[in-house]
Amino acid sequence: MTELERKHDRTPVPKEWAYAPAPESRDVVSLDERYGHYVGGQWLEPSETYTTISPASEEPLAEVGQATPEEVEAAVAAARDAFENGWSGASAAERAKYLFRIARILQERSREFAVLESLNGGKPIKESRDVDLPLAAAHFFYYAGWADKLEYAFPNRRPRPVGVAGQIIPWNFPLLMLSWKIAPALAAGNTVVLKPAETTPLSALLFADVLRQAELPPGVVNIVTGDGRTGAALVKSEGVDKIAFTGSTDVGKAIQRELAGTGKKLTLELGGKAANIIFDDAAIDQAVEGIVNGIYFNQGHVCCAGSRLLVQESIYEPVVEKLKRRLTTLRVGDPLDKNTDVGAINSEQQLDKIRELVESGEQEGAEIYQPPCRLPEKGYWFAPTVFTNVAQSYRIAQEEIFGPVLSVLTFRTPEEAVEKANNTPYGLSAGVWTEKGSRILWMAQRLRAGVVWANTFNRFDPSSPFGGYKESGFGREGGRHGLEPYMQFDGSEHFSG
Ligand code: ADP
Repeated sequence: MTELERKHDRTPVPKEWAYAPAPESRDVVSLDERYGHYVGGQWLEPSETYTTISPASEEPLAEVGQATPEEVEAAVAAARDAFENGWSGASAAERAKYLFRIARILQERSREFAVLESLNGGKPIKESRDVDLPLAAAHFFYYAGWADKLEYAFPNRRPRPVGVAGQIIPWNFPLLMLSWKIAPALAAGNTVVLKPAETTPLSALLFADVLRQAELPPGVVNIVTGDGRTGAALVKSEGVDKIAFTGSTDVGKAIQRELAGTGKKLTLELGGKAANIIFDDAAIDQAVEGIVNGIYFNQGHVCCAGSRLLVQESIYEPVVEKLKRRLTTLRVGDPLDKNTDVGAINSEQQLDKIRELVESGEQEGAEIYQPPCRLPEKGYWFAPTVFTNVAQSYRIAQEEIFGPVLSVLTFRTPEEAVEKANNTPYGLSAGVWTEKGSRILWMAQRLRAGVVWANTFNRFDPSSPFGGYKESGFGREGGRHGLEPYMQFDGSEHFSG
């Protein structure tokens, strides 16, 4: 017997292969007790504050500012000053230099940011570590590369910056949405006032320290925190030339109404109710992984989540059976545990909304399945959920739930799949699973969705434009397309849309 075999012999075989806790250390993050607004390269003492918490434990993390309209105006004035007195005239290579620096610092400090993102937002550390942070840095690298090539990106159009961009972002990917917004704006020569979501302000506030490290000139990026009132003040501010908003369709519509006739540029990235379509020739096990990634990634707090599963009728039973079996293996719990697959719901308000919609699904007659799992007592949690027997008219098939809840529908023919997939007021994304390339192209031409994934789901790349149709908004972020909303061209006036 070898030494190894002898050792193995003595090791008791556990009855159940449970994962031991593997928590990521919190020590890498040091939080201040209180944060102000980052204006003109300095911290502005806030006149009002509120407490931001960890949604996994309800533990208070810090006091942050609730910016008043006056504080928002101070940030807009700092951005205007920086735009007119330096940044818009800086050489393109100079702008690229700062963007490259920011990208590198984000990489260097990625563990700190990942822990903070999971702490304040509730998402599993393996997602913030392996998805949010690498992609955030990649966006800065990507747009740094464009900064001195704008004339080539838009030949014969003499691109110029728009001016001061007001940017309002949601809580589901706080740092990543910040990067999607700030990187193209700066590359194109604009200055920025950014407002993170009220439940997840901390990574944006830590980002202010990255700006300090990168020695970005004061006022080029300003960060004000607060809830919808702060966002509304930024939208109203006369000193802002462009608004970029990612969030709910209702707020997006209100912003569009507010800006109508003002000449300010606007891009809106709003909700979604994506169809994930599985044909009977698809590789089923891979498709099941794609379904899980499509809806349970980030607790389903994803605007392009594959929240409607359309399965071809002939494979309905094996797909649903495999999916339910796979659900029993998802680990729900502490976002800072490296083994966690599904973390905390971002806020009590969001949990209430999920519960309300799930109740409506049960009342309307859908069949609910949730794997057995023990949810922590403190904090906001919702078990991964699948609804079968769903009719297209049910609210759970129509409305965005923004939680770990999947509605399963069936189809017989590709035509029916297209019709059902497009039967939604939204049009942000879709997924198609089939082994036939021709069918993928046929489907992609007919699906009214800004992004169509083939044999995969929820894949992002800075070079690939992202955005919606219909009530999912307009304008594109990412790629060369993502620069355009931040520029004006000779002969073109500001336009909305
Ligand atoms: P959700 O419903 O997903 O929380 P919201 O659209 O309410 O999405 O929030 C997205 C972002 O929009 C947040 O930063 C929020 O503070 C901001 N916001 C909310 N209401 C308004 C408003 N009336 N005007 C501008 N921004 C707003």
